[in-house]
Amino acid sequence: MSLRDLYQEIIVDHGKQPRHFGKLVNANHCQVGHNPLCGDRLILYVLEQNGVVEKVQFEGVGCAISVASASLMSEAIKGKSIREIEVIFDLFHYLVTEGKDPGQDIGKLAAFSGVAEFPMRVKCATLAWHTLKAALLNDPHPVTTE
Ligand code: ZN
Repeated sequence: MSLRDLYQEIIVDHGKQPRHFGKLVNANHCQVGHNPLCGDRLILYVLEQNGVVEKVQFEGVGCAISVASASLMSEAIKGKSIREIEVIFDLFHYLVTEGKDPGQDIGKLAAFSGVAEFPMRVKCATLAWHTLKAALLNDPHPVTTE
């Protein structure tokens, strides 16, 4: 199996069976995100304590890339500090916009490396991350990629 096939398989798997899907009742941050270009919508629930993201869950509908991205993000940031999450997001953002190795191991998030070839898809892949950022800042406005 090529690396490309493996990456494709991870996205299909998480797109079909997202992890951490559903409402998080004890969340202390909540944010709505919308990507009108593709029709992706999500509600992100975050439980944060002393600057550490203890748990993330989400609800919503969207294309396989947006759902897989929210699912893999929820796995990648669990138990991480807000500072660590900012670093991971910067690396992920570089990967999906430049299509190059960000120089540090980002685990399964590397599955999104092919997205850079499809600029419209970058918004699908980053929607959950922008929504997370706004959630942690308690931004009262819904996030939109437009
Ligand atoms: Zn999408």
